[in-house]
Amino acid sequence: MRFDILTLFPETFQGPMTGSILKRAQNKGLIEVNVHNIRDYASGRHKQADDSPYGGGAGMVMMAEPIVKCLEKVITEGNRRNRRIRRNRGLKPHRVYLSAQGERLMQPKVEKLAKKHDWIILLCGHYEGVDQRVIDGWIDEEISIGDYVLTGGELPAMVLVDSIARQIPGVLGKEASAGEESFSKSLDRKKEYPHYTRPEVFRGKRVPKVLLSGNHKEISEWRRGKLK
Ligand code: SAM
Repeated sequence: MRFDILTLFPETFQGPMTGSILKRAQNKGLIEVNVHNIRDYASGRHKQADDSPYGGGAGMVMMAEPIVKCLEKVITEGNRRNRRIRRNRGLKPHRVYLSAQGERLMQPKVEKLAKKHDWIILLCGHYEGVDQRVIDGWIDEEISIGDYVLTGGELPAMVLVDSIARQIPGVLGKEASAGEESFSKSLDRKKEYPHYTRPEVFRGKRVPKVLLSGNHKEISEWRRGKLK
């Protein structure tokens, strides 16, 4: 799975995208994450990528031209490479704009995105957002990570990459672990049961007896009963 992230703040992706499970997934070639600076595609000496809104009002709006130029370059180069290595099934990327006004992200949507696409482009807005003409002409769907407003689309993009990546076979240590999680189909989209580890007693609090019994049937029934 290939992700291309378009942002005015590429430095914010250092850390979340370069550690732990996502780092291992990239090293294993299971996912690829490329971060592009929209400002590199802005013209003029000052590389201006945002401007005041038509009609007046507070805040700045991200300009269409640098975004579209960046998007076109990413797609052209991605396609050129796809043809060379014949790796990605589809040559058409799925273009997502992270937006508070988009469809709210839920686990079934994450699974669908992971299954349906090999290549996802994520556009991160900032300030008041992006020029509407970009959304109308170059975006396939808008996705929100919740009904609240953040300062930028960078955190939502990270949420999307992380949640989709863990659906890809081989990304998690144990294949089983993505299947039996909160909101997964195998748990009837419910919230998962509680977990415990050593020691058996911690500051007077005991691990439920059934989990120490070794009786797999009873453990499984207990866990089912704890789903919410
Ligand atoms: N003017 C916009 C509105 O009222 O809907 C909010 C703009 S917000 C301050 C700046 C950027 O953050 C947005 O363009 C979007 O990319 C991102 N953003 C903010 N909240 C988000 C959310 N809940 N989900 C996804 N992206 C979000």
